[in-house]
Amino acid sequence: MATRVVLLGAPGAGKGTQAKMLIDRFKIPQISTGDILRKAVADGTPLGKEAKVIMDSGGLVSDKIVLGLVEERLKQPDCKDGFILDGFPRNTAQAEALDKILTGSSMPLTVALNIDVDLNDLLKRLTGRRTCKSCQQMYNIYFSAPKKEGVCDKCGGELFQRDDDKEATIKKRLDVYQQQTAPLIDYYSKKKIMKTVAGVGSIDDIFKKAVAALEGK
Ligand code: AMP
Repeated sequence: MATRVVLLGAPGAGKGTQAKMLIDRFKIPQISTGDILRKAVADGTPLGKEAKVIMDSGGLVSDKIVLGLVEERLKQPDCKDGFILDGFPRNTAQAEALDKILTGSSMPLTVALNIDVDLNDLLKRLTGRRTCKSCQQMYNIYFSAPKKEGVCDKCGGELFQRDDDKEATIKKRLDVYQQQTAPLIDYYSKKKIMKTVAGVGSIDDIFKKAVAALEGK
């Protein structure tokens, strides 16, 4: 049976990390609107230029832009057997639009998985986050520091702090999450597909709980 997932959780809850492990396990693609937008920014496309200003401020890019990107991506053949949406939907309007798209193509969501993490923990996770410029590997200077400061263990690339991981931006992103995204937990609970796992402990432990949730155990 296809596994069609929406991954919920505040910025810093570990959605991206879990999504990368889950796609290996379930052999389905990860669709991260944050990654798609960051690529558009890096490529300097008109859409990327428009999105960068908003992303750097910690706000949400317009629903129209994001929905267009997601709708296109879901049409790709690799989504036939399932997918993991990571960072989308971010508000009720996006969730409703997604339901319409998926119902129209007879691929309704099977699970909404929330990775639940305490707000104070999130701040440390986010301000400590560093990403490799070359291979995108992520580190945290508090919890999973690279062996050599500023250098990727895997490929020797330079580590950097994403513009949207700076402190003022992070506060705004957490605010936006509370106000706009957290209500989706209620939204999917009403649809009876909501599952929550505690996003604390080792990455592997969280992964095991996430797999069990996706397998309906
Ligand atoms: P993320 O990596 O998912 O935290 O996304 C980084 C930034 O990209 C967010 O702070 C938003 O500015 C933008 N973004 C990502 N996904 C969405 C979305 N579904 N709707 C609106 N903006 C988004």
